[in-house]
Amino acid sequence: MSLPPLHPDGGAFLAEVERRSGVRVSKCFQCEKCTSGCPVACDMDLPPNVLVRHIQLGQQDPVLASETIWICASCITCSTRCPNDIDLAHVMDALRQMSMERGTVSLPRVQAFHRSFMAALATHGRIHEIELIARYKLKTKTYLEDAELGRELFLRGRIKLLPERVRSLREVREIIHPRDSDTG
Ligand code: SF4
Ligand code: SF4
Repeated sequence: MSLPPLHPDGGAFLAEVERRSGVRVSKCFQCEKCTSGCPVACDMDLPPNVLVRHIQLGQQDPVLASETIWICASCITCSTRCPNDIDLAHVMDALRQMSMERGTVSLPRVQAFHRSFMAALATHGRIHEIELIARYKLKTKTYLEDAELGRELFLRGRIKLLPERVRSLREVREIIHPRDSDTG
């Protein structure tokens, strides 16, 4: 994959990503261990190591508009494999927040799911599937899609009618960024 040139204002974007994620992305030396271990790299438009290189080159637009940051499943495989201790999964979190702040929507339905999930988590401290589904369906207007699958899950007792609330709800809410959910 060919790489773009260094952006004239490249240092600013790299510095912002490093500040917000707390991860020294600049330490990457392109060994590609992150990409070779990533279970969904084949579906990404910018494989993890290429995404990192784009950040180093200050290419804000392709990074924040990439599908990669929404396809990432936060499995942390890349973070554990990196010889430079670059926590790429954490970087992805920061990039998703930055993408939402700038209104860069590459995969709107994935973003809708992300916001619905975080809002449902902020309500009870754990996921109540019916609430999550309702929030997602309202956002995407896909009311009948997967209805049969939902019915099967309900009949098998995999979807609970009533939510359960954790005792430490305040602590859970403190770690959820308002812009990550419908609460922002
Ligand atoms: S594993 Fe770490 S050093 Fe290697 S390419 Fe990925 S981020 Fe860079
Ligand atoms: S955290 Fe994301 S980028 Fe890293 S290995 Fe998992 S899916 Fe791939």
